[in-house]
This record gives sequence, C-alpha cells and structure tokens, in this order.
Amino acid sequence: MKIAFIGLGNMGGGMAANLVKAGHDVRAFDLSEAALAAAKDAGCATFTSASEACTGAEAVVSMLPNGAIVKSVFTADVIGTAPAGAVFLDCSTIDVATAREVIGLATEAGYDMVDAPVSGGIAAANGGTLTFMVGGTKAAFDRAEPVLSAMGKAVIHAGDAGNGQAAKICNNMLLAVHMAGTCEAFAMAEKLGLDPQTFYDISSVSSGQNWSMTSYCPVPGVGPQSPSDNDYEGGFATALMLKDLRLAMDAADTSDSAVPMGSRAAALYEDFDGAGNGGRDFSAIIKTYLSQR
Ligand code: NAD
Repeated sequence: MKIAFIGLGNMGGGMAANLVKAGHDVRAFDLSEAALAAAKDAGCATFTSASEACTGAEAVVSMLPNGAIVKSVFTADVIGTAPAGAVFLDCSTIDVATAREVIGLATEAGYDMVDAPVSGGIAAANGGTLTFMVGGTKAAFDRAEPVLSAMGKAVIHAGDAGNGQAAKICNNMLLAVHMAGTCEAFAMAEKLGLDPQTFYDISSVSSGQNWSMTSYCPVPGVGPQSPSDNDYEGGFATALMLKDLRLAMDAADTSDSAVPMGSRAAALYEDFDGAGNGGRDFSAIIKTYLSQR
C-alpha cells in the first residue's frame, strides 16, 4: 500500500520503519529535518509537507504530540488532499473530544478514520510489538487492522470513534493508581520492619497482587527486571504518564465521572513532575514515600 506517515518522532520513526519492512511504500513527513533523515535511512520516501506526503496515499497514519496538532494537520493537509476512499489512522494519544471531532470531519468528507492510540513505548514501536486500541466503525476498523498489524502484536476494536482514546486514558489512570498504591505499600511495609523481598513474596501471591508489583516492581532488586533496576532510567517517563493523567482528568470533567483515586494519582504525578522528575520512569515516585521517612 501507499501509506503517508506524519510525525516520525520517538514512536513514529520506528513505526514507519516497520511499515517499510512489511513491504509498504511509505511517504513520510515531519517538521524535524533529523526525523526526516532517519526515516529516509529506514527506506521511507520523504516530503516537505504533509499534503505532498498524502498525495496519492491509500492510507494516512499520524503519530503526533497532541490533539491541537492532530486537528490542524488533518484539517489543513489531509482531509481533501488524500484521495477519496483513503483510510486515516491517528495513533497519537489525544483527548477523546478532539479524536471524535476529527473523525467526524473526515467521515463527513467521505473518508474512513480510526483513533488508534498505543500501549507500549519506544522499544515496542521499534520492535513492532505495540498494542493498538482502536475506535471507529467496524468498516473503518477492518481497513485499518492490516496496517496496524504490521506495527504491533495486538489490535483491539474498542468500539465507536474516540473509544480507543477512552480505553487508553482509563487504562493509564488505573496504572497510575496501582503504581502509587504499590509504592506506598512497599514503603510502609519497610517502615514496619518487613524486608521488601519478603513483602513481595507474600503480596505477589495475595490479594494485593497487581501489574505494578509483579511486572514492574518499583523496588530495585525485587521482582523481574524493571526500570527500578536501572536507577529508574528508560521505561515510561513521568512526563508522559502526566500527559495521560491530564487527559484523563479532562475526560472525567466532561463525562461527569467521579475519579477520587485517579485525581489523587494525578496530583501526586503533578508534584513529582514539578520537582524535576519528568524524565524519570514513573515508578520512581516511590522515592517520594521513602524520602518521607
Ligand atoms: P515525539 O515528540 O518524539 O514525536 C512527535 C513528532 O511529531 C516529532 O518528530 C515532531 O517534529 C513531529 N511533529 C510535531 N508537529 C508536527 C506537524 N505539524 N507536522 C508534522 N510533524 C510534526 O513524541 P513521541 O514520543 O513519538 O510521541 C508521539 C505520540 O505517541 C504522543 O501522542 C505520545 O503521547 C504517544 N505515545 C508515546 C509513547 C512513548 O513512550 N514515547 C508511548 C505511547 C504513546
């Protein structure tokens, strides 16, 4: 397929390269010269505007920083420029309302479009092992699925337009809650005289067990290898977790949802990010509890 790819940053660069490896003809555009040069090295054809990249494309994939940019790129350069019948896939993490608005505009203009945010970080983008949560009509999903499969290990239809973004922010809000809870439990257990490994051995087979504990333990040397074993480098940056929590808090307001735990987790991550920890893995928040001893 001829696929336009807009936004070749940390995530998009690897994703576009995997489309090339799968045999697609990838037409790349990014505002950054360095990102374009790397895409060229990976086998993409490069263009100097999004509209040029979209000319003749059967599918358009975007991986951009936020909703305002997604809306401006799609309204200015994609809708009306890509050939009639093209399918659009926005893989960025953005707010549900903007995702629904842009998909509405594309649909009115006669295109199929899905929101398809990802779970998995830069390593999964490079390795083609992302999970995609997809919102849109069944017809749009069926057209998007083969393109997404070339970049990921799982592609799940979450329902109508915007539901991919809804799944992503609800999942990450829950992740923040159980990571924060896991950190405070380990810190208190230690203060009460329990060895962290002993607490892990008990809680990981008891009712407190959760992913933050058994797959991503915030205590160095406990559980499987995780960013805590690398001084909280790599992994899922606090700044990105905070971005998702802010989107979750906006969505809670607009949908009138009660999120007492999510809002507490968001406040904790606001403080942790504000203290200069934006680049550290989000499990490093355990230091907040330990430093209070
Ligand atoms: P990034 O900043 O590395 O890449 C974004 C790219 O978009 C940059 O190369 C930038 O130059 C380009 N860009 C910005 N405005 C543009 C425009 N108008 N036209 C063309 N290109 C433009 O960010 P990233 O880490 O690749 O994240 C991309 C998206 O993926 C975000 O929505 C993020 O929340 C989401 N995400 C990131 C991760 C992660 O681990 N990095 C994980 C899951 C989801």
